[in-house]
This record gives sequence, C-alpha cells and structure tokens, in this order.
Amino acid sequence: MTTHILEVRGLHAAYGPTRVLQGIDLDIPTGQVVALLGANGAGKTTTLRALCQMMVSTEGRIMLAGQRIDGRSTEQIAKSGVGHVPDGRGTFLGLTTEENLRLGAYARASREGIEADMVRVFDYFPRLRERRGQQAGTLSGGEQQMLAIGRALMGKPRLLLLDEPSFGLAPLIVRDIFAIMRRINKEERVSILLVEQNAKLALDLADSAYLIETGRIVLSGPAAEIRSNDAVRKAYLGE
Ligand code: ATP
Repeated sequence: MTTHILEVRGLHAAYGPTRVLQGIDLDIPTGQVVALLGANGAGKTTTLRALCQMMVSTEGRIMLAGQRIDGRSTEQIAKSGVGHVPDGRGTFLGLTTEENLRLGAYARASREGIEADMVRVFDYFPRLRERRGQQAGTLSGGEQQMLAIGRALMGKPRLLLLDEPSFGLAPLIVRDIFAIMRRINKEERVSILLVEQNAKLALDLADSAYLIETGRIVLSGPAAEIRSNDAVRKAYLGE
C-alpha cells in the first residue's frame, strides 16, 4: 500500500523542440499539500501540464496511488482522480456558474451524488450559490477562481493541481480562497499540488515544498525548512 498519492520519477517535458523539464522527481504524501515554487519560466505550469499530459510531450514515470498514469490521455487522467485548475482558470465564460460546475462532473466515475456535491461546493463558496445562474464571464476574478476550484471538485478528485490560484486577485480574496483550500484539503481529504508565485502564501498552506529552477528541482523539504532556507528567503520571500 503506497502512502503517496503521487510519485514522479525522471519527468522530462518539451514543447516540440523546446525542452523544459529536465528530469523531475516529486512525491506527494496522501492527504498533504505540496507547494511547487520557482521563478517565472522555471517550469511550474509545465509540470502541472505534464502530469495531465496536456499540451506537452513527456518522458518519465508518473504514479497515482501506486498506478502508472503516464501514457494515459488527459481525459483518462482526469477520470483517474486528478483535478486540474489551470492558469487562466479554464472556465467557460459563456456558460453559467451552474453549467460550469456540471461540466466538471464529466470526469467522475459515477453519476451519483452530483447534486449533493454541488451543494457542498456552494457551501464552500456561498458567492457561487448566489451567482449560480450568472454567466461565468461576468463574474469577478475571485469568483472565477472559486468557480474553477469548484468545477475541479465536481470531478471528485483525489489530487488537485492548482496553478497560481492567487494570480491577479486582491489580498483579501486570496486569503479567503486559501482558507477554503485548507478546508477542502482537510474535509474532502484531497491532496493538493500548489503552484504559486507568492511563496509566503504557499508555504503557509503547504506541508512540504519543492523549488524548481530551469526545469530541475534544486531544493525540497518540509515547508518550515524551506521557509528558513537563506536562498529562498532572499529570492522568494523578499527578506
Ligand atoms: P510562470 O510563473 O511565468 O508561468 P512557470 O514556472 O510556470 O512560469 P512555464 O509556464 O512552465 O513556467 O514555462 C517554462 C518554459 O516553457 C518557459 O521558458 C516558457 O517560455 C516555455 N513554454 C511554456 N509554454 C510553452 C508553449 N506552449 N510552447 C513553447 N514553450 C512554452
């Protein structure tokens, strides 16, 4: 029985001739939040895309709860229990909040419990309940981020891949969203891989963290250890 929801070994990824990931190893203990930190262009978004086999060609071994998922299609990976909240959020702007949430349910193994899960999403994000009939394109940035997370939850993921959930949002909204992500992690027992530019925020939420530089992992460890690392403090925490 594995204690890791995700084990990645020797992951390479390339966009055509452009090689971005140069052999990444990464472990996510089941139930934990792991942050992936790094500068612009280091390969964080590409790592999440590679895990879902999206837009990028990959080599290497990706195990979800002990089963290999590399080589599966993006849709099969979603159906295996990986929820992806991409950068730019990926909501359908012409559809309503509720329609977006229902689309998120396509990835689940069983049709049962969709209505109950929608109620749970609305309990986490009451703003979405108030705006269930509103077109997603007219939601605020924060509400769209909530919708993107809610939509991923409707797929009943075991692992959530979150790409820059704080991007472009006001600090108060970011604080709310991070508090809800902590609840989702605990209450839904969803493991989370969190890509964040805001290293302080990410390290407050995460149990452990990895630092990626030009497609290679250069540092990893418990969040508290990474937070007190001199290089991280200078380069990512502005201290
Ligand atoms: P950021 O925080 O700026 O999004 P990141 O760490 O997420 O940075 P990636 O988006 O993974 O970085 O980009 C890593 C490298 O891959 C960059 O050099 C980028 O230019 C390149 N890249 C990203 N997407 C593509 C693409 N579709 N085609 C070609 N190259 C790409």
